[in-house]
Order: sequence, then C-alpha cells, then structure tokens
Amino acid sequence: MESHVFTHARKMKLVLISPKGPLYRKRGGIFKRSLRYQPLTLTTLAALTPKDLPIDVTLIDESVTEIPADLTADLIGLTVITGTASRAYFLADRFREKGMKVVLGGPHVTLLPDEAAEHADTICVGYSEQSWPQLLHDFMSGQLQKRYQQAPDFNLDDPNMPFPERHRFNSEDFLTQAVFEATRACTHNCEFCVAPTAWGRKQYQHPVEWVVNDIRQFVERTGKRKLIFVDLNLVSDIGYAKALFTALIPLKIKWFGLSTVLIAHNEELMELMARSGCKGLLLGLETVTTGSLGDAGKKFNSSVNYKELVAKLHKLGISIQGCFVFGLDHDTVDTFDATVELVIDAGIDLPRFSILTPFPATPLYQRLEQEQRILTKNWELYDAQHVVFQPKLMTVKELEDGHERAWKKIYQYNNIVRRLWNAKNFQPLAITANLGYRFYAHNLHKFYTCDWPIEHNPAKSRG
Ligand code: SF4
Repeated sequence: MESHVFTHARKMKLVLISPKGPLYRKRGGIFKRSLRYQPLTLTTLAALTPKDLPIDVTLIDESVTEIPADLTADLIGLTVITGTASRAYFLADRFREKGMKVVLGGPHVTLLPDEAAEHADTICVGYSEQSWPQLLHDFMSGQLQKRYQQAPDFNLDDPNMPFPERHRFNSEDFLTQAVFEATRACTHNCEFCVAPTAWGRKQYQHPVEWVVNDIRQFVERTGKRKLIFVDLNLVSDIGYAKALFTALIPLKIKWFGLSTVLIAHNEELMELMARSGCKGLLLGLETVTTGSLGDAGKKFNSSVNYKELVAKLHKLGISIQGCFVFGLDHDTVDTFDATVELVIDAGIDLPRFSILTPFPATPLYQRLEQEQRILTKNWELYDAQHVVFQPKLMTVKELEDGHERAWKKIYQYNNIVRRLWNAKNFQPLAITANLGYRFYAHNLHKFYTCDWPIEHNPAKSRG
C-alpha cells in the first residue's frame, strides 16, 4: 500500500500496541480484574496523533487483550520496555513479514536504538511529543525517515498539549483508568535507574493548570475522584510540587504517587501533600544494608530514618508502598530477614521486593559488564524478578531463593496482621490489597506485575 493514498474515505489504519511481558496473566488469579492500571503511553500517543490527518487509531494493551491473529494495519507502533523487548521484536518481525510498516519506541528503544532499528522501519528515540506528529505526516506523504529523535529543546510546557485519550480503552479491563502524569524525569542519578540514562536529569513539567484541567475533565466524564500519578518522583522539584499540590486541593481528589524519602526533610510539603488528597505514596526505600545505598548511588536515602518517616506519613493519613531491591553489592544472605523485620517494625502497609536489574546502558549495566558479571542478555529476564548478573556476596540461587522467601514471609498472615497493626491501618482495602499481594507472593513465577495501591485511614493512624 502506497502511504500517500490515504483520504477520509480510505483512512490510514494505525495500531498502537503495548506488548505483554513473558509472565503475563490477564487476571490476577483470585481477582476478576487485571491488577494492572491503564498504561498512559498509548493513550498519550493517540492524543498526539494529528486530528487533521485521516487516521483511524486502535490501541491494544496485550497484557489485557490478545492481538487478533488477522490484524492488519498500514502502520503498527510498539512501545517497548526491556522486559517486553523480545516479544516486541518478535511481533515487529512478524508484522513486517506480512508487509506492514512498524515503528518502535519507548524506554528500551531509547536505551538501545541500534538494536531496535533492526526490527523496525523507523524508531522513536526519547520522548515522542514532537516527533510523533512529524513521523505520521512523513509516513502519509511517503517520506518516512529511519529515526526520529527527541529534540534537545524538548519540554512538556506547552499548555495546549492534548490530554491522553483514556476513554479509548475499556475501563473494565483495568484496575483503574485514572492514571495521570504531571512531570517526567528526576534530578537524581541512581546507578540502576533507567530514567537518567534514557532521558537525562532535566525536569520535564506540564503546566500545573494543564494537569488540573486534565483531572477535571476526567472527573467530569467518569465521576471518579481517586487517581494515580505515575511520575517517577513527584517531589523532584519542590517549587513545582508545592504549586501542584496547592492546585489539587480544590479538586477534592484522592491520589497515589511516587516520591523519594527526601520528603522527610520537608514537613510543610508533606502536610500540603496530604491536604491535596494524597492517600498513598510509593517510596524507593531500596535497602536496609549499610553500604548498599552507596552501591546504588542513592546515598541520600541514608539521611532519613525510615521508621520515623513512615510514622509521620501515617499520621497524615498516607499509606506506604515500600519498595526494596535485593542483590546490591553489600547485600548478603542475611539481608532478606533484616528487611522483613524492618518492614514489619515500621508498619509498611504494602511492601514490595524486587531483584536488582541492570537495565542495558545504565551505569549499573556498564559496571557489571566491565566486571564480567552480566550472566545473560536475554531481555525477557530483565523484569526485576530474575537474577541476570552475578551477585557479589551471594550465589545466584541464594539471591533468587532469598527474594522469594522474603515475599512469602512478609505476606504470611501473621506478618500482615503485625504490619497493619503497627501501621494502625484497618481499612478493608488495605487488607484486600495485602491478600492480593499475598497471592502474588505465592505465584511470583506466574506474574509480571501487580500495581495495587491502597489508602490509609487518617482517623485511625498512628498518633
Ligand atoms: S530517585 Fe528514583 S527516579 Fe530518581 S534516579 Fe533514583 S531511582 Fe530513578
């Protein structure tokens, strides 16, 4: 099909796909609905697709919907993270064999553009807000380029940027459709993190008013006031965070988001966050091992007493999803039990453990490769649940077993009770979420992800 023949009578058929990971399951076992929240990338790309072009857009999140065997399209776009790269390349090769054009984008493509280019007609490197419309114009005029790169002056500050088209997905397929974004990137430079390597440390920020209007429209359309911010670090820029939280107060929403533990040093910001409707925070606590924070390039965490921080946030009615990573260079076989003890003692509402993963091109990957400790380049295993490198003070098996043991132990019934008792969190949702995670803990090998946030009851919080 020649690409310049599209008209409003014969629209260009564009299919955007988020490929599934290898451990994909549509349903969360005992739960009827996927424990996945609706991804923002595809709905954002749909919104950025120029409305003056005759394009018919279809979105497929393969984690909840199968790709039809007889799917045809003029152009297929696949968004790729490292854990889905093998699947994305497989699909891309198959679509191209059938004569369809393929564009690849996303974090993995940004990290390894040359590898991705072998499986695509074109690739998008970096953020696509500017390059995506250009790519589509080029495709439709038969002038598709080999690569589209994020411009050096890229920012998110355009007040007229379209809002993600969340309604394009079936809300029934997801835990929630209320997924929002105010900022991208983070000022820090943790050794294992993809963000600084892929996108640098510049602050990309939507205008606060844009974020507020996006939420307002969503609330008007759905009547739902509980939402998730997927920003990597909402408090990366304190000034912006204050302006955002202040503007959220009149919306009377409840929200969940991500922050560094550095929020501990700013009581005013914590209080403002609570007043703006924050009910849950995902904190990268990472490790309890002395020395491991230095290994991770995250020494700033050591300035914070985790137990005190959790207590303060509980007092403000904010529940904690505490994330820890196992396999840092100072971690030993004793690290697992020590972590479990801290999590119980601190009353972390919903703990989550992962295995250190050296995503390609990150400083961690480069260091481990230099030290000849990368054990496999099978990207399917780069999912934070498999050991893909040689740990320093443990064997691979000790790390695998310890990770699984920690998950099972922290979600033993008695430990769920102890944690929630310490947290003074008796919300039914907290108990349900813990039971969901307990199921997940016992089926780690079957699941790819579990995104369940919970909230805290301020009236019953620690005093
Ligand atoms: S603080 Fe979080 S988002 Fe920022 S660089 Fe470190 S791991 Fe990445």
